[in-house]
Amino acid sequence: MEKVKIAVIGAGPAGIAVAIEAKANNIEPVVVLERSECICNTIVKFYKPGKRVDANFRKEDIKPLGICSFETETKEEFLQRIENWVKKWKLDIRLKSEVTEIKKRNGEYEIFVKDKPEFLSEYVVIAIGIFGKPNRPSYPIPKELEDKVFLEPPLEIPKNKKVLVVGGGNTAAEVACALCEANQVFLSYRRPQFFRINEINLKNLEKRKKQGRLTLLMATDIEKIESYNDRVKVFFKDGKKEIYDLIYYCLGGTTPKNFLRRIGIEFDGKGEPLMDEFFETNLPKVFLAGDIALKQGSIMKAFNSAHIIIKRIKEKYLSG
Ligand SMILES: Cc1cc2nc3c(=O)[nH]c(=O)nc-3n(C[C@H](O)[C@H](O)[C@H](O)COP(=O)(O)OP(=O)(O)OC[C@H]3O[C@@H](n4cnc5c(N)ncnc54)[C@H](O)[C@@H]3O)c2cc1C
Repeated sequence: MEKVKIAVIGAGPAGIAVAIEAKANNIEPVVVLERSECICNTIVKFYKPGKRVDANFRKEDIKPLGICSFETETKEEFLQRIENWVKKWKLDIRLKSEVTEIKKRNGEYEIFVKDKPEFLSEYVVIAIGIFGKPNRPSYPIPKELEDKVFLEPPLEIPKNKKVLVVGGGNTAAEVACALCEANQVFLSYRRPQFFRINEINLKNLEKRKKQGRLTLLMATDIEKIESYNDRVKVFFKDGKKEIYDLIYYCLGGTTPKNFLRRIGIEFDGKGEPLMDEFFETNLPKVFLAGDIALKQGSIMKAFNSAHIIIKRIKEKYLSG
């Protein structure tokens, strides 16, 4: 097992800022473990090309506390800025390294990458953001349908589309209801009845159905999907075919909060992870940074959380 001083989980703005602040304070070695094939995966994946990256996101004027800061610029300029920082600070980032488990051992933490113990670390900073790793359907999603078929709930509600939502859990119900406001929505579930949906969501589905805004397609299973005149053709296993503008799959998968629960982080009554004001959890020397630690996150807040954590490690554990 590789021994490090700090293991940072996630190479988004928060994780990268933690590594920079740690190196600037000579707290080394620091390794950053990233699940995807690139750094800043949330920005790469969810921001449209040329998107303005606002320094005062949601009109909040957050002043930078530490080393990392930026002015409003495009997605591409921001990603280039981060690349430059990674080079300048010689950050040790390991891509395609999903952390699946963290276990305490003799006062240190064993970090499991893809279920194998790979690192032993004194401090752990978890900066995994708020987006999960969704389950995929068993059949392939054609490449040309990438902008019409989604594995995560919509960030913005589309308008005036014929939409298929696939799934039978609470997320599927909530997504279908949210989409109903401005679209014609169909919800496909492979069982004849829902059994995992809470009462509120069941009532909401029923209400939308009565209003004629939602059609429930119970006991329907999809065999495959194909691209068809810039739309999506769905082949159901009973032989029926239907065409939709968009599909949202809500098939479950791992969520960041479940990851925290699994490794032993405690939560408050409102379902938020317990932390002190320096982002330290109930597990000593395990901190949360960025979106996973904040109610309404932003890049500047993620940078600032990194500064507060490293300052705290220095003052609480390393001074004197
Ligand atoms: C569409 C959109 C537009 C936005 N616009 C702005 C804006 O203009 N200005 C602004 O300030 N903010 C904006 N935000 C918010 C901003 O993107 C987030 O606040 C910021 O990305 C949070 O950084 P983070 O490092 O905490 O999390 P993330 O950026 O989500 O990074 C988390 C990283 O952890 C990785 N990861 C997850 N799980 C694991 C694991 N188990 N093991 C290893 N790696 C893992 C992920 O792949 C990812 O790379 C926007 C968000 C969205 C979705």
